[in-house]
Formats: sequence, structure tokens, C-alpha cells
Amino acid sequence: MQGEKKNKIVKTIKVDVDKCNGCRACEVVCSAFHAAPKYSANNPARSRIRVIRDPLRDVYVPVYAGEYTAAECMGRDKYTIDGKEYEECAFCRASCPSRDVFKEPDSGLPLKCDMCEEEEEPLCVKWCLNDALTYEEREEEVEEEEKQEDLEIGLESLADKFGLDKIMDTVARMSMKG
Ligand code: SF4
Ligand code: SF4
Repeated sequence: MQGEKKNKIVKTIKVDVDKCNGCRACEVVCSAFHAAPKYSANNPARSRIRVIRDPLRDVYVPVYAGEYTAAECMGRDKYTIDGKEYEECAFCRASCPSRDVFKEPDSGLPLKCDMCEEEEEPLCVKWCLNDALTYEEREEEVEEEEKQEDLEIGLESLADKFGLDKIMDTVARMSMKG
């Protein structure tokens, strides 16, 4: 069904891999900001940005956590950059059943970049002293109904996979964050 058109702001972070030196400050600040209470701990395993590192070749690629997916994809991409082959799923942004990345280590719930919600500028961008990350906003036309359907499908598949109780517990914990 065709929904009503509406303009919305699309927030993106541009990554310049040539400027990234693999310092992982972005992982540290992201995990600290999302700790409960805020800044009480930092653990890069809880970060919504992960840096793929190959120090011997001076290759560092920051990847943001994207959407949760209930099923593994059928087709996989292989990447060869400067003669080095990367794992098929290395640059994928999804929280997916085939790997542990972008999952809350304790609960297993998916992690997704939320652009640091109420912050003026995403903290990973602010803390990247090498300017490898740049925050950008643009306006795009979207259909309202479709967005609602996407949200419902996403919530249903999360409830199927993790159980409604676990999700409700997590939402309650998040709403108590300071
Ligand atoms: S803070 Fe910047 S330079 Fe450091 S790992 Fe993250 S993106 Fe790379
Ligand atoms: S924008 Fe915020 S939530 Fe997203 S990866 Fe950066 S620090 Fe984490």
C-alpha cells in the first residue's frame, strides 16, 4: 500500500579509511556512552562501531552496526583489498545469527548504531581525532506507512528469536538509563 510522502532527515557518518589509524577511541566512547548508567564502564564488545584491523598492513576499517536480521543471507561477498582477502562477512553491518559481532555480550540482543540519540554530534565522530569520521545530514522523501510496517516486522522477528520477556526487560533497563 502506498503511504503518504513525508520529508525526513537522514543521518549518516562518512568513513575515510585512509585517515583511520585503528586507535579504537570510537569503540571505547560508544560503549561507554551506551553503558547503564552512562559512562560507568567501557567494553568495545558492546560498541555499535567496530574497527576491522590488520595492523601489519596498516589497514583499519570502521564499520557501524546496522539492522538486525533474523536469518543469514544466502549470497556472500568476498573482498580483496591490496592483496589481502577479508572474511566474507567482514564489512557487513547487520547483527546476524552467523556471528557474534554487534550483539550485547550478556543478553545476545542485537546492537544498532542510534547516532547517539540526543547528542548534538555522534560521539565517535567527536572523539575521532584523525577526522576519519564525518557526520552528515540530508533530507529524503519517505512513505510513512511502509516505515511502520518495517518496524512491526522487525519487532516480531526480535520477539520470536529472543522472547518477549527478555525484550521487555531490556527496554525497562534502557528506560532507567541516566
Ligand atoms: S577513532 Fe577514528 S582513527 Fe580511531 S579507530 Fe575510530 S575511526 Fe579510526
Ligand atoms: S554514532 Fe553513537 S551509537 Fe553510533 S557508533 Fe557512533 S558512538 Fe556509537
